[in-house]
Amino acid sequence: MNPLSDMIATLIANQGPLAISDYMALALGHPQHGYYMKQVPLGEKGDFTTAPEISQMFGELIGIWCADTWQRMGAPAEIALVELGPGRGTLMEDILRTLKVVPELLEAAEVHFVETSPALMAEQRARVPQATWHASIESLPEKPVLLIANEFFDALPIRQFQRTEQGWHERCLGLVPQENGGWDFALQLAPDPIPNTALLPLNVLDAPPGSVAETCPAAQSIAETLGAHLKRHGGAGLIIDYGHGESAPGDTLQAVRAHDYADPFADPGEADLTAHVDFAALAQCFAKGGAKIWPLTTQSAFLSMLGIIQRAKKLQASATPAQSRDIKAALHRLTDPGEMGTLFKVLTITAPDMAPPAGFDRA
Ligand code: SAH
Repeated sequence: MNPLSDMIATLIANQGPLAISDYMALALGHPQHGYYMKQVPLGEKGDFTTAPEISQMFGELIGIWCADTWQRMGAPAEIALVELGPGRGTLMEDILRTLKVVPELLEAAEVHFVETSPALMAEQRARVPQATWHASIESLPEKPVLLIANEFFDALPIRQFQRTEQGWHERCLGLVPQENGGWDFALQLAPDPIPNTALLPLNVLDAPPGSVAETCPAAQSIAETLGAHLKRHGGAGLIIDYGHGESAPGDTLQAVRAHDYADPFADPGEADLTAHVDFAALAQCFAKGGAKIWPLTTQSAFLSMLGIIQRAKKLQASATPAQSRDIKAALHRLTDPGEMGTLFKVLTITAPDMAPPAGFDRA
């Protein structure tokens, strides 16, 4: 039996169908049974593997990006190195190791983590003990910032809407009775269409009946707040995630368990739930807050621009044959279009008055 399923079923029985966003928030964040609250989900033995867990090259190149960007900002004497959803702390550990060659930046930088999972905070503390932890972005220091978020925004709860002849209806989870006297979850639509379609991306509004549209209110509010922070205090950031560059209709909610796709509603709290990041919507919110948005690139193009091929060769030069094969495989996974190379995108954001960041200063 799954205690969270029972809890959610009771909630639905008492209060009516549950919006997908509320389901996702409970499945991921319920204090006792939420997926991120009780376990370390990442790595070979976990449910999924992220870029920093694939290879140290990923964090090293982001470290180089941080050093370069800090120089372009005019090397401020104080800077907050902020990571949203740092997972096991691997990315920041690799960044900080790389920054040893820029001791002035290490001196200037204070590490801040935004994290809600106690299990992952313990992992982060083991790798980056000097960090300061925040439950939300609201308490981040009033300083210039270098901001990193890898596979953070895909974990935030999405709302889903489905088009009918009447309009756009919120998609919810309801209960259907089973023959054995039990119940099962079933998707259903709220009876009335939403009165205000302004919250949906403009270019999905004309999608035909049956189409699904998604929004991520938490992502939007975080992006707007951070956009305002960049404008007020200066700085730059990288948002790296899987998703699409243009808003488009489609149901992208997915569950991953033991490195395989699963039913998102079968076992809440036991599988990772994510949705594609709508980078167009996200970028708009950063811009609304006051940040400057640079053209979206693919992970492959971004890592190539920072020299991943040269870095792989350098590492291979002093590697055993087995290590060398691992480096080649990691390079392939991170950059090949059939792997993470093009599905994963990189959004660069800066303070509005900042010089162009790496990759954008040449014609
Ligand atoms: N960036 C890491 C981990 C990605 S998994 C990596 O690339 O390996 C998503 C991360 O976001 C986890 O650390 C998770 O605990 C965190 N997270 C999810 N929802 C969050 C929220 N609402 N606020 C803060 N952190 C959150």
